[in-house]
Amino acid sequence: MKRIPISKPDITDSEKAAVMEVLESGFLAQGPRTALFEEQFAQLCGVRHAIAVSNGTCALVAALLANDIGPGDEVITTPFTFMATANAILFTGAKPVFVDIDGETFNVDPQLIEAAITPRTKAILPVHLYGQMCEMEEIRAVADRHGLKLIEDACQSVGASYKGKMAGSFGTGTFSFYATKNLMTGEGGMVTTNDDVIAEKCRMIRSHGMKQRYYHEMVGYNFRMMDLQAAIGLAQLERLETMTARRRFNAGFLNRHIEAVSIPKVREGCGHVWHQYTVRVNGGRKRDDVVRHMNEAGIDVGVYYPVPVHKQKSIQAVIGDVTMPVAEKMAGEVLSLPVHPLLSEEELAMIVAEINKL
Ligand SMILES: *Cc1c(COP(=O)(O)O)cnc(C)c1O
Repeated sequence: MKRIPISKPDITDSEKAAVMEVLESGFLAQGPRTALFEEQFAQLCGVRHAIAVSNGTCALVAALLANDIGPGDEVITTPFTFMATANAILFTGAKPVFVDIDGETFNVDPQLIEAAITPRTKAILPVHLYGQMCEMEEIRAVADRHGLKLIEDACQSVGASYKGKMAGSFGTGTFSFYATKNLMTGEGGMVTTNDDVIAEKCRMIRSHGMKQRYYHEMVGYNFRMMDLQAAIGLAQLERLETMTARRRFNAGFLNRHIEAVSIPKVREGCGHVWHQYTVRVNGGRKRDDVVRHMNEAGIDVGVYYPVPVHKQKSIQAVIGDVTMPVAEKMAGEVLSLPVHPLLSEEELAMIVAEINKL
């Protein structure tokens, strides 16, 4: 029996043909494919601008810098995320301030944000974890009340929505197209915005602060995407709806049949795109035992994330010792099961059977 992987890049002949076309064109670096990918991605998110970059981490750094975040500033974010969110804040010279999460959605608890605001707070950076958006109405209201910038880490939420509005359209949006993400280009990222000034700054930050070739107006990096990546992204975009429908079908199947552990909660008005299907192992059972049981049955599972960001050594060196009870509890309970679009119904049934043996 073949193992069931936790994720698998969905590559068809159209991705292969798109890559060959770029290779044969002789134009490998940022060029016309990237421009087209940006245009279509902006359309998907319902925003005026999309700026393609090398990866999701670069998207976060560019978004923060374009919003003038720097030394002395504080950025409010969640401790229950991939390390890149906090590292991007630190790279700008700003300090991450963590706010605990809601144990049902694993996203930042909007009720707790206001109490974390200080005179140094410059931005709120919510993360739409596992494919479900944060409660953006509440978060937007807090940001507006205090004059704060809003930057969304939508790296796990391409195509997700909240009350009819797309991820990446509430503030400055940041996306990742890493090989395991819902839409992938191997490595890759995107910034989205309706703000002309932020868009222009991101384009400059992406390429050594240039507006006009070899005239440099600010300090920048090389955060550019290759046309090779963009070509894969364009092929993936064409199938995004189908791939998302498949993930939703798979999640629905798991929801209906899993009995032994608590299934994920989807908030009213949220268009979940199921980057991960994450259950909680509690009630006296040990998560590590369940991981072992699944692995022995030939099913790969994931733990995102075993250590919350505020407990990581590199972060504790900056912020000291803080306690986030819900995030710490969830770090001990979460378990992600395969939900990717290439799962067969037979494999879904196997996953359910093994989980329900517990
Ligand atoms: C993947 C991811 C990132 C970073 O993206 P890369 O493309 O790997 O740099 C940032 N935040 C979250 C929540 C992610 O899942």
